[in-house]
Amino acid sequence: MSVCEILSVGTEILLGDILNTNSRFLSRALANMGISVLYHETVGDNEQRLYDAVKRALGRSDIVITTGGLGPTPDDITRDVCTKAFGYGLVFRPELADQIKEYFDRSGRQMAESNLRQAYAPEEATVFRNHNGTAPGLGMKKDGKCLVLLPGPPFEAEPMFRQSVVPFLEEYRTCTIVSHQVRTMGIGESSMAQIAGELLDGENPTVAPYCKTGEAYLRVSARAATAAEADRLSAPVINEIEKRLGEYIYGIDVNGIEEAAVPLLKEAGLTVAVAESCTAGLVAKRITDVPGASKVFHHGIITYSNDVKIKALGVNPETLRKHGAVSEETATEMAQGVRKVSGADIGISVTGFAGPDSDEPGKAPGLIYTALSAEGTTLCEKIETGRNDRDYNRFVASSRALNLLRRYLISIASKENTR
Ligand code: ATP
Repeated sequence: MSVCEILSVGTEILLGDILNTNSRFLSRALANMGISVLYHETVGDNEQRLYDAVKRALGRSDIVITTGGLGPTPDDITRDVCTKAFGYGLVFRPELADQIKEYFDRSGRQMAESNLRQAYAPEEATVFRNHNGTAPGLGMKKDGKCLVLLPGPPFEAEPMFRQSVVPFLEEYRTCTIVSHQVRTMGIGESSMAQIAGELLDGENPTVAPYCKTGEAYLRVSARAATAAEADRLSAPVINEIEKRLGEYIYGIDVNGIEEAAVPLLKEAGLTVAVAESCTAGLVAKRITDVPGASKVFHHGIITYSNDVKIKALGVNPETLRKHGAVSEETATEMAQGVRKVSGADIGISVTGFAGPDSDEPGKAPGLIYTALSAEGTTLCEKIETGRNDRDYNRFVASSRALNLLRRYLISIASKENTR
């Protein structure tokens, strides 16, 4: 099995001025490819010590990855020293100079002459394009040894590694990791983790809980020689999670609740219309983000003011006066109203206080009601996010409205099946 070594270059790291996060990132990423990292070394910006360190690394390891010291200033010596230690020479490569100039043009800045230092690379080297900075990365392979040079800033090194170095190191890969996201709605991260229980202790696959805006998900990651084998390992664990978390799960490897709700509408052959107050069109936007939504969605109304709730949806002024705009009663009448005026099979509504202020005494920002009206059915859900964050509250409100729709569609599908 090939041995890999990470060589971090920079006096700043030795002085403790910066934390060596590149080594951590690279070690994890290489482990995911089944490449063994047996050595980490850090060396300052000193020519002789760096040369010795590269020679030593190439002596004991098959793959050596350096980070840092590819900049345009005289203390950035990694390119020159590593190339020499690998037995190559640097030549000016005009295509690199063009890429660097293009980077400066794109960011509207003037290029310094010194940046052209970064256009030198060995003829034999593979160049890794830097989309987030000027220093190109380099990869060299000779006599069973492989040397990779990456820039220091993590926001340059990490995407470069993912995009270019992973394919460059493909021949050394001994395994692959495949992850799946089991996404839930309506349950908190800690309750979800509690229900998952001992599944979180597994080693292959690993199961880890995460939270995203207003929802929680489990990531199931398996390591195996092939993607198919990894999926075979994950399948029973995902089945068990599905058994335990049941209807909270809205999808696996989907990008959002809309990707679960819209296909269900299509399958049921039903249409939906939405009336939105605090989300001001976000529910409609998310439905129409799904390709083919025009088959199930024709009509959305933003009824931000009470006046429009009355005029456009037929909400009873007495309901608004007695219960307020943010109430179960108003949400229900909005859903019924939009269903009626649009002629859709299902009406959905959202009304709530996104924050920072709430207009009704005793009602806090983050209080949201979402309702659904359909043939013979009226549903309403109250949500209290407990957060005074406008974007968060609006996104959660739209997610919960789409989840109400999803749950309704599942319930009518299961009734159909038991008939
Ligand atoms: P530049 O072109 O920006 O000069 P470079 O490749 O020459 O990049 P360095 O000058 O060595 O890289 O480092 C630039 C910055 O990148 C450091 O100040 C630090 O913020 C970050 N950096 C460098 N090495 C590491 C590391 N190992 N881990 C985390 N961050 C690092």
